[in-house]
Amino acid sequence: MSDTIEKIKCLIIGSGPAGYTAAIYASRADMNPVLYTGMEPGGQLTTTTEVDNFPGYPEGIDGPTMMMQLQAQAERFGTQVRIGLATAVEFSKEVGGWHKVIIDGSKEIHAQTVIVSTGATAKYLGLPSEQKLRGGGVSACAVCDGFFYKNQDVAIVGAGDTAAEEATYLANICKSVTMLVRKDTFRASKAMVHRVENTPNITVHFNSEIDEVLGDDVVEGIRMVNNQTGEKKEVAVTGLFIAIGHKPNTDIFKGQLEMDETGYLITQGKTTKTNIPGVFACGDVQDKEYRQAITAAGTGCMSALDAERYLATLE
Ligand SMILES: Cc1cc2nc3c(=O)[nH]c(=O)nc-3n(C[C@H](O)[C@H](O)[C@H](O)COP(=O)(O)OP(=O)(O)OC[C@H]3O[C@@H](n4cnc5c(N)ncnc54)[C@H](O)[C@@H]3O)c2cc1C
Repeated sequence: MSDTIEKIKCLIIGSGPAGYTAAIYASRADMNPVLYTGMEPGGQLTTTTEVDNFPGYPEGIDGPTMMMQLQAQAERFGTQVRIGLATAVEFSKEVGGWHKVIIDGSKEIHAQTVIVSTGATAKYLGLPSEQKLRGGGVSACAVCDGFFYKNQDVAIVGAGDTAAEEATYLANICKSVTMLVRKDTFRASKAMVHRVENTPNITVHFNSEIDEVLGDDVVEGIRMVNNQTGEKKEVAVTGLFIAIGHKPNTDIFKGQLEMDETGYLITQGKTTKTNIPGVFACGDVQDKEYRQAITAAGTGCMSALDAERYLATLE
């Protein structure tokens, strides 16, 4: 463990749209924030080519460029952006207490306020062909990327409420939606299943999994397999959406911050306050509903304002 403890006003954990927006606001409010990027500098948007729905980019922008611009904007006002991973935390339950955060297992930071913006990780199937075509037609976000497949044939994998909702969303835009459900029944609520069943251009295949995603540089189809009979079938599609869930990046906060049964952090009312005074959460780590860059940025702004107000009450 390091023998030099760094004491700061504001620590931001995570470098997605939520973290960088929090950093822009916190640095402009003279909170001298230090931001740690984690393993994925720039966050989830660095895994996508085209972001078309973030306001202010009329021609769209590619994800990595947008995130470099957000970083530059945060640095312009004095945010210290550092490469590093928060590996352990020990939060004070006292109002005004110092929060201890360990970076990369050795460096110790004591912060008056901590903004948690560690996001969530989309789950994928893990097939090599799927990984190869991520960004080339394989996507984990129908609301983000569905538009690119307007009037085209697409497929979606998943059985829960999100999958059902995304399938009906895609059905509005696309020509046809082939939906693969691994078991012989949906996990989604009855209402959502009803919506899927009543959407004529969705075809549901139960007991079905992806055997391989077809295509060299872009998705050209899927080969699906019936896991009961072993029968394989190829379907021509240009897009494949994986809707099998997200994992919030909250392992290090277990036992410290209140979270729901799936690990999403719980915030109080319309604020970004957690159960610990001086610790705030923003972005996808506390939002399983909307999961968009703009909503992450919005709550990032809120968390910096909440942190600033908290610091003001200490003075
Ligand atoms: C393929 C894909 C395409 C998408 N396209 C769009 C789109 O077009 N438009 C749109 O609005 N949204 C899109 N989204 C959703 C959008 O990316 C997310 O909603 C948004 O990035 C969430 O921002 P965030 O800041 O909460 O977290 P994230 O972007 O998930 O960033 C989390 C950050 O936390 C860091 N981190 C995690 N753990 C630690 C730790 N222990 N210590 C330090 N740092 C840590 C990570 O390194 C990362 O930098 C897309 C998502 C995906 C997967």
